[in-house]
Amino acid sequence: MSAADLAGKIAAGEVSSLEATRAHLERIAAVDTDVHAFLHVSEHAERAASAIDERRSAGERMGPLAGVPLAIKDVLVTTDMPSTSGSRILEGYMSPFDATVVARARAAGMVPLGKTNMDEFAMGSSTEHSAYGPTRNPWDLDRVPGGSGGGSAAAVAAYEAPIALGSDTGGSIRQPAHLTGTVGVKPTYGGVSRYGAIALASSLDQVGPVARTVLDAGLLHDAIGGHDPRDSTSLTDAWPSFAEAARQGARDGALKGLRVGVIRELPDTGFQAGVAGSFRAALELMQAQGAEIVEVSAPHIEYAVAAYYLILPAEASSNLAKFDSVRFGMRVTPHAGATVEDVMAATRDAGFGDEVKRRIILGTYALSAGYYDAYYGSAQKVRTLIQRDFDDAFAQVDVIATPSAPTTAFPLGEKIDDPLQMYLNDVTTIPANLAGIPGISIPSGLAADDGLPVGIQFLAPVREDARLYRVGAALEALLEDGWGAPLLARAPQLSERENS
Ligand code: GLN
Repeated sequence: MSAADLAGKIAAGEVSSLEATRAHLERIAAVDTDVHAFLHVSEHAERAASAIDERRSAGERMGPLAGVPLAIKDVLVTTDMPSTSGSRILEGYMSPFDATVVARARAAGMVPLGKTNMDEFAMGSSTEHSAYGPTRNPWDLDRVPGGSGGGSAAAVAAYEAPIALGSDTGGSIRQPAHLTGTVGVKPTYGGVSRYGAIALASSLDQVGPVARTVLDAGLLHDAIGGHDPRDSTSLTDAWPSFAEAARQGARDGALKGLRVGVIRELPDTGFQAGVAGSFRAALELMQAQGAEIVEVSAPHIEYAVAAYYLILPAEASSNLAKFDSVRFGMRVTPHAGATVEDVMAATRDAGFGDEVKRRIILGTYALSAGYYDAYYGSAQKVRTLIQRDFDDAFAQVDVIATPSAPTTAFPLGEKIDDPLQMYLNDVTTIPANLAGIPGISIPSGLAADDGLPVGIQFLAPVREDARLYRVGAALEALLEDGWGAPLLARAPQLSERENS
C-alpha cells in the first residue's frame, strides 16, 4: 500500500495508526536482520501512533500523512533516538533538539519508526562505508542498495516503511532510488530546511523524500518543506503543493508538448546496456505521448565529478572539524598525560573511517595556502560554468532527462576498494547539487541484461520542483499501465526468509 492509500484508510477509520505502525515494526523484525536498513528502531513508535489515534478520535483534523509511519536517515538529529550519521565517532549520541524536518513530520502526525543506515557522514554510494555494516538491496541481498541513503531506500523498497527521509549532497537520495526501484527527490537548494541535518557539504546538502510513488514523495515534501528561519540558506518562497502537482500529472498527463532535454555530452558509453536501454524506452514512451525530445549541450558537465570532489571535501573538512573529542561523541585518551592534541588525534583515528579520513585530508589540502586558487577556486569557477550550462539548456527545454545512475545495483565489495569507481556512480546526479536545481528519480523498469531496477532522472530549473512531480507522476502512470502493477510488485518479497 502506498503512504497515500494507507493515510486514506487511517483517515477513514479502517486501520488505526497503531495497527499500521505495528505491521511495519513486525515487518522490520522479520526482514531487517537480512536487509539491515535500520541502525535503530524506535521504542516510542507505538506510543506515538496511539497518541495520533486518540487525537483523531477526539475529532481533531489532521494533515494528509497523519498516522503514517516514517523512517528517518540517521544524518537527521532526533531527541528520542540516537543520531550517528553512520559514524563510530557519534555512537549513541543523543541530540538536544529535533531537525526541523523531523519536527515538522511529527507535527504532521507521522510516526517515526527508526533511524536508517547510511555511509559514514553521507560519504559514499553503496552504504558500505557505514561504521555499522552495510545495508543490502531487497532485490538481491548480495548487492548494494546505493548510498549514502541506502538504508532509507532499502527500508521503503522492502516494505519496512511506507516513506522515509533522506539527504542528497551528490545523489544520495536519487542514486539509491534508482538501485532499489523507488522514488527519490532532491529539492531545490534551500527548499527544505537543513537545520539538524548533520552537515556534509553545506552548499550541496538537501533533505528530501524517499517513497514508492511520486504522490507519496510529494505529500512528504509538502509536510517538511518551506521556509525555516533556523537555516540561513532557506528560501522564503511560498511553494505550491507538490502532492497536487503529482495528482495533476497523473490525471492530465503532463507530457503533451513537454520539451525534454537530453544532454549531448552525457554519452551512452559508460552506461550499462540495460540502463541505456531502459532510458531510451522511457523517452520513446514520452515521445509517443507528445513530448518532444531535444538535444541540449552542457559542455562543462564532464568536469562535474572532478569539481565536486574538491568542493565537497573542502566543505566537509571544515564541517567535520567540530568532531574534536570535546564537543560531541567519542573521546579516546591514548595514554596518561596525553595532551589535547593527543586526545583529538586518537579520537579521530578511532572514530572516523577510511573514506572520511581520505576526504578530510583531501579537503584540507585543497584549502591550504598556495593550493586554494589552483584547486578550490578553480572548482568553484567550474561550478559557475555548470550552472550557466543549465541556464542555457533550460532556455530550450522544460526538463532534462538522464539515467539516474550508470549501472544497476552492483555486488557488495565490488567498488569498496576503488574510490574513483565509487565516485563515478554519481556522474548524473552530482551536476544538480552543483547547480542547486531540483531532481527526481523514478523507476523506469528492469534492465534487460540483469533484471534489476533502473531509474530515470528529471531535472528542472531552480524553484520548479512542482514540474518534476507533474512529469514524474505522468510517466509513472504510463509505465505502470504498461507493467500492470508498480515495479516493486516484481521485487522478491523476502518471503521465504520472513516465514523461516
Ligand atoms: N555519493 C556521493 C558522495 O559520496 C553523494 C553523497 C551524498 O549525496 N550524500 O559524496
